[in-house]
Amino acid sequence: LFVSFEGGEGAGKSTQIRLLAEHLRALGLPVITTREPGGSAGAEALRHVLLSGAAEPFGIRMEALLFAAARADHIDCVIAPALAEGKVVLCDRFVDSSRVYQGVTGNLEPDLMAALERVSVRNFMPDLTFMLDLPAVEGLARARRRAGLAAIRAESPDRFEREEIDVHEQRRQGFLDIAMREPVRCHIVDARQSIDEIARAISSKTDTVLGA
Ligand code: C5P
Repeated sequence: LFVSFEGGEGAGKSTQIRLLAEHLRALGLPVITTREPGGSAGAEALRHVLLSGAAEPFGIRMEALLFAAARADHIDCVIAPALAEGKVVLCDRFVDSSRVYQGVTGNLEPDLMAALERVSVRNFMPDLTFMLDLPAVEGLARARRRAGLAAIRAESPDRFEREEIDVHEQRRQGFLDIAMREPVRCHIVDARQSIDEIARAISSKTDTVLGA
């Protein structure tokens, strides 16, 4: 079983991945957890390029190609072998992040996005995707707190803060749109709930799909 977790910054993906891994291991299932961009040695090297800020002047097409290259390597070296061994794979971000970050807010042409997806993902789509959904202002507040930044004053954001909120909201809508188009794979989880409530919703859905 291949499960991906998606959502904006601050939605709580990594906590939920850890809790679902614990839940499945307690059932005796073999589980690996991994993340994108990264997950394999080659893809982690690209992660460094992509997230260190060095990629800023590269342009969005190059960025999308690098994400696709990292994903191809991650699948070949980590995800496909684990699935072949019958393991459950829990992945922090996958192709929906590309669709949203490069496709929606990066404004990349849909044809290019579809072509990259075809060559990088092939038939390795997740069986199950949990989209942790949070209003943009709340997600940003959590992400900024984690980064040690002051929270945006929701009542009176300045122009730059307004832009940041708008981009976040577009991404949120991007994830929700994917979930509408692919309701069998994608499950929206209200990330404003408590950690335990979210974990229960995720584990019970996963158990159902596993037939556990
Ligand atoms: O939230 P997380 O720790 O997964 O952050 C990874 C970052 O990588 C995201 O905040 C996002 O800015 C970026 N990213 C992206 N395009 C992707 C995947 C991740 O821009 N396809």
